Amino acid sequence: MPLKDVTDRIAKACDAAGRDPGSVKLVAVSKVQPADRVEAVLEEGHRLFGENRVQEAQDRWPPFRDSYDGIALHLIGPLQSNKARVAIEFFDAIHSLDRPKLARRIADLAQDLGRCPELLIQVNTGEEPQKAGILPAEADAFIAEVRAMDLPLTGLMCIPPVDETPSLHFALLRKIAERNGLPELSMGMSGDFEQAIAFGATYVRVGSAVFGERDHS
Ligand SMILES: *Cc1c(COP(=O)(O)O)cnc(C)c1O
Repeated sequence: MPLKDVTDRIAKACDAAGRDPGSVKLVAVSKVQPADRVEAVLEEGHRLFGENRVQEAQDRWPPFRDSYDGIALHLIGPLQSNKARVAIEFFDAIHSLDRPKLARRIADLAQDLGRCPELLIQVNTGEEPQKAGILPAEADAFIAEVRAMDLPLTGLMCIPPVDETPSLHFALLRKIAERNGLPELSMGMSGDFEQAIAFGATYVRVGSAVFGERDHS
């Protein structure tokens, strides 16, 4: 089974890195996948999933949440301010906090709603203009700003540029997290999660290796 293959590979990568296998959490990225594939992974006992669109997650997950206990849903895609309220109510973690205005909005809503998901800041380690995320040079100041708002910030997330060696980006993300005392590192996807684990990933976001290729038609 693909899920078992991925969890075995995670365990091996942890072993190779001298890390406790319990220190890496698999976020199974179910975006765009057909419901039967998601259900198969739920049936195997997996409970932590990632979605990159608020609307798609809202359409898909309520029935699964009724049928299976203990599901945790993480938002891994960009969050627009006008969807922030729904996202706070719906998700257990948001990996894509990327700007002061959104942080302010989440802080206000968290006050209102009396709850707030775990938050990770997305860092645009490749400084790609089309990609979301705070620039590395602005990360320390933004982390301080988010902490001053009393938000439950736990770590950092990155998506390395497709055409670059991911390990340089993983190393940079870890460095920023370490100097700011942030324990969680969300990095590594189907093609590079083992490398990410070697560099300290605590969340790996794996889609196609768990569910099969996504249908983009
Ligand atoms: C789709 C996606 C993933 C998973 O990608 P795979 O290559 O299928 O593992 C991970 N992170 C983010 C932010 C994504 O959008």
